[in-house]
Amino acid sequence: APEDGDLLAVDGVSKHFRGVKALQDVTLTVPAGQIRGIVGPNGSGKTTLFNVVSGLYKPTAGRVAVAGRDMTAARPYRLAQAGVARTFQNLRLFRALTVRENLLVALDRTRTSGIWRYALWQVGVWRHDRALRHEADAILTRFGLADFAHSLPGALPYGIQRRVEVARAMAASPRLLLLDEPAAGLNGEEVRQLAEIVRSIRGAGVTVVVIEHNMGLVMSLCDRVTVFANGRIIADGTPAEVAVQPDVVEAYLGD
Ligand code: ADP
Repeated sequence: APEDGDLLAVDGVSKHFRGVKALQDVTLTVPAGQIRGIVGPNGSGKTTLFNVVSGLYKPTAGRVAVAGRDMTAARPYRLAQAGVARTFQNLRLFRALTVRENLLVALDRTRTSGIWRYALWQVGVWRHDRALRHEADAILTRFGLADFAHSLPGALPYGIQRRVEVARAMAASPRLLLLDEPAAGLNGEEVRQLAEIVRSIRGAGVTVVVIEHNMGLVMSLCDRVTVFANGRIIADGTPAEVAVQPDVVEAYLGD
């Protein structure tokens, strides 16, 4: 059962797509302030979990609570208002907007959906909002992106684009940040920088759940790790604990 202090509580969640059981009776809780790793072979249900927690998918069964409030099947914007932000495996930046403009769109919390904010941006609704511009510049500095403020995302190195994606998620001032394979495609130095960024995000009081295949990063970054296989949790513990469990090793060798 969820306890006080759990920022995220997933209780008995299943998600079925016609014949596919993407998640089967998944229960996990993440205490406030933790960095939780989610690992498992491809197709084991990791992204489906994020899609359920961020409101993109309605669970077939089970409950989701954020900071003690039931948010089961809430719409994505409601979850965003409740403090849930996420990144995507495939970057979802607005390609026609600069880095700074991407942050400005994300910073406005008065509109419901990202696409609605984007449309209003296009007609120039907040181009003159000084407070938002100030906030955007603070985030650019915080994430080491000031030099790229006026670039289009597509013109930037891939590692910088990934960082912009994280910065954009943080623009919503989340309490819970879901990162979907943030190190994919990054080189060693970029992975080290990413780890520093995630630690600083946690240091600012944000709880982080990260799906990641880079085991070196998982081992060094995460307080606890939850291992998925075939839509179920097969192990949960500290990185050192789960790394030596035979069924975990087997799940990976079978991938
Ligand atoms: P992972 O993130 O661990 O690679 P996913 O959560 O993406 O795994 O997928 C788990 C299973 O659910 C896979 O068999 C996948 O094909 C299926 N699945 C995920 N999303 C959908 C969807 N929208 N429609 C049908 N099947 C889906």
